[in-house]
Amino acid sequence: MDRTAPLRQRIYQMLMESQFWPPGQMQAYQRDQLAQLLRHAKATVPFYKARLDPVFKKNGGIDWSRWREIPIVTRADLRERRTELLALELPPGHGPTKDFSTSGSSGVPVTVTATAIASAAKSAATQRMRTLHKLNSSRNYATFVFPHQFKGTVFNDGETPAWSCEAQDGGIKSIKINLFLPDSRKLEILARENVGSLSHLPNTAEILAYENNKLGKPLRLESFLFYGQRISDEQRQKVEESFGARCISIYSSKEAGLMASQCPASNHLHIAAELVFLEVLDENNVPCAPGETGRVVVTPLYSTAQPLIRYEQGDVATLGDGCNCGSELPVLLHVDGRQDPIFRFPGRLGNEVLIDKSMLQKTLRAAAVQMAQTKELKFEIRYIADADAAPAAKAKINRHLRQVLHPMLDFEYRRLAEIPRNAGGKQQRFVREFA
Ligand SMILES: [Zn+2]
Repeated sequence: MDRTAPLRQRIYQMLMESQFWPPGQMQAYQRDQLAQLLRHAKATVPFYKARLDPVFKKNGGIDWSRWREIPIVTRADLRERRTELLALELPPGHGPTKDFSTSGSSGVPVTVTATAIASAAKSAATQRMRTLHKLNSSRNYATFVFPHQFKGTVFNDGETPAWSCEAQDGGIKSIKINLFLPDSRKLEILARENVGSLSHLPNTAEILAYENNKLGKPLRLESFLFYGQRISDEQRQKVEESFGARCISIYSSKEAGLMASQCPASNHLHIAAELVFLEVLDENNVPCAPGETGRVVVTPLYSTAQPLIRYEQGDVATLGDGCNCGSELPVLLHVDGRQDPIFRFPGRLGNEVLIDKSMLQKTLRAAAVQMAQTKELKFEIRYIADADAAPAAKAKINRHLRQVLHPMLDFEYRRLAEIPRNAGGKQQRFVREFA
């Protein structure tokens, strides 16, 4: 039995009410939570010993007008000063803690330590999203994972670990399917396990819809939950048509938990302001106005084990201006996270999530790698390294990519001084350079 269930239930009950709080009440709540977090961080986290000084008044009160003087925490801080960022002790009732690793767009992993209370809050916010979208709770839910992430009973296809099944509260099962199985097999398992709700990236959904449409009787799903990349209108339409599924976007990260989820009445998102103080800042670190686009900087309110006070999430978002669905929670019109292309091969599509990025980087001894599909069956692998990769290294990578993408692929390797930028000035890990 999940020992945090009562805590999650209490938070859920609050969330069902707090979504209607007037903005002033929400601000007072956030400031109360932030004040506790700031005091905790200053007292117990070496990284914040002096960093928060601008907001602390002589009498110990908080000067909110100076909030923006708190320096922004970067991903490099999280990577290089992880130990300093850990709290020496936790507030009562916040433990135990758990570590998560996340690799993000740079491909360099960081480790995040979260408290039990933060995990319970994330589950409660997910439960609120499910309630608001009227998702039927009687069907199972599934996602695609690497086999080492399986939980519960494992089922194999011959020698290959195929999926795992774990009982949840209320008789629901959580199904985790091996990401590397052929899409046709994934669809069979989803049908067999009575999955109603699937969650993964928009590109995975689009590729699965492409396979689903080949079936005589396509699989029907109740909902598709999207994490990570922004879903385009075209992708939304393809997935809705193929599966008859409602598409729901969720903005979350390992560092900050669930930050926003789609409004039940519209395609924009509502910020989970009870769990995270989310700022959208322009290039001068000034808060954006509604309609403006800026960088997302977050302060997760429950992150007491490894406080992240003004953490640069690495995404760009556009602020909205309220919503007429009844919720008072602030609106994000959209979040532009990483956008990776779908590779196109004769008769099938290819998903970058299957590529072992850290293996590529290590094998090439590269600081950065870009994979460009230059023709239907050809990739150019561009990398920054001190020396050319050895033939054995290239052979190892070729084998992997032929296995996970397409067996007929051809490769060319180019060692460069800099990864080329796209029209928008971004250096992307994966690009498709033919129509
Ligand atoms: Zn709304």
